[in-house]
Amino acid sequence: MSHILIESIEAVIVDLPTIRPHKLAMHTLQKQTLVIIRVRCADGIEGIGESTTIGGLAYGNESPESIKTNIECHLAPLLIGQDASNINAAMLRLDKAAKGNTFAKSGLESALLDAQGKRLGLPVSELLGGRVRDSLEVAWTLASGDTAKDIAEAEQMLDIRRHRIFKLKIGANEVSADLKHVIAIKKALGERASVRVDVNQYWDESQAIRACQVLGDNGIDLIEQPISRINRAGQVRLNQRSPAPIMADESIESVADAFSLAADGAASIFALKIGKNGGPRAVLRTAQIAEAAGIALYGGTMLEGAIGTLASAHAFITLSRLTWGTELFGPLLLTEEIVTEAPVYRDFQLEVPRSPGLGLTLDEERLAFFRRT
Ligand SMILES: [Mg+2]
Repeated sequence: MSHILIESIEAVIVDLPTIRPHKLAMHTLQKQTLVIIRVRCADGIEGIGESTTIGGLAYGNESPESIKTNIECHLAPLLIGQDASNINAAMLRLDKAAKGNTFAKSGLESALLDAQGKRLGLPVSELLGGRVRDSLEVAWTLASGDTAKDIAEAEQMLDIRRHRIFKLKIGANEVSADLKHVIAIKKALGERASVRVDVNQYWDESQAIRACQVLGDNGIDLIEQPISRINRAGQVRLNQRSPAPIMADESIESVADAFSLAADGAASIFALKIGKNGGPRAVLRTAQIAEAAGIALYGGTMLEGAIGTLASAHAFITLSRLTWGTELFGPLLLTEEIVTEAPVYRDFQLEVPRSPGLGLTLDEERLAFFRRT
């Protein structure tokens, strides 16, 4: 194939309403802000991607505004005029010239993959080596902050067969109050559901030692990032003594982090997020490290909309083992979309399109309506 040049790159910030306030230890989401990436190529093909993070700067060190600025001022100029069909070369160019900025890079890598898939008539999953499963199990996060409301929400999800794995966001309250909340929910749902917690680094090791024990003893299946990513030695000790498996999430900010966590034995499960690794191809490098180290995998989300969710899904569906399923429910948290057809959730699973690219089309009218001006 001769060179097909990248002609222009646009980063558009959109603010979308959510179905309810979504309480995380570090932030309460009232809306979600997405950065939509549009890469236009000389053959008339446009690739779309998404760079989305949570709560401004509450989660990581890139914000929607910094992502847009850094793409416009630094990353797009490196790609314009380059070959759109050579994704290795394009991403190498970005990595050489720009440290970090994995969320921005992830949106760009997703858009290049979408364009290349459309060009070749292949879904992104096939560009990534091919899918080995039909669909992806999707967990739901119960984050209303109210025990009775959370139980009612879980019961409804079980009834309509949308989710049977529930993740509870804890850490912002007293440990004892959080444990009471979690145990009440597990008791109500029993064996009908898998209940897991995400502490988002909010405990210290002294709190986590006992809390992990209590959670494990009460049937909680998984404990996500109980303590700070900075306390590596503490993570190793917790991983050795917790009766419920420990998953690393915030601890992984790059593929290199994944390697050092594996080498230290700091977690038995890795949360995979395209935004934190630099794209759907980059996240598979973290998955390969985990596979080689015998660490189990979980497909994580940054509460992306349809585009970022399917960019993740196309990567996750190529994984031979995905023991802990995924949490790719971002589109279900939004009341509005900016694509013509929403991703399909059915029988506890997300379906991954088999049409070329990511399998999505931008709805120009809705994008114009929700874009920030
Ligand atoms: Mg998490």
